[in-house]
Amino acid sequence: MTGRIASHAYLYNSAAWRGPHGLRKQALRRDKFTCQRCGCMLVAGSPNHPRAATVNHRIAHRGDAELFFDLENVESVCKTCHDGLIQREEERGYKVGCDGEGRPVDPAHPWNLE
Ligand SMILES: [Zn+2]
Repeated sequence: MTGRIASHAYLYNSAAWRGPHGLRKQALRRDKFTCQRCGCMLVAGSPNHPRAATVNHRIAHRGDAELFFDLENVESVCKTCHDGLIQREEERGYKVGCDGEGRPVDPAHPWNLE
């Protein structure tokens, strides 16, 4: 995972992302520093805190600048949620969860493939 992040470091290091008016700040302000997954209050400036403010891309950008800088594609989450649920989704390539009949909700889940 570090390799993937490192290869997109120029996106995360850009002023358009991390600057005072960057997309990251815009997302956190829009979401009122509240985790969009568990509803906890986010902590700024302490990257290792369990509730550290993290801005997640809903659709993995994989280096695509258009997805990366799309305010509609980002959500504020805490470090715990990001490291857990979201990372698991990215690793598996499909969403975690199932419907009322126990079928995985994501059509990309292996169970839903022919
Ligand atoms: Zn959370």
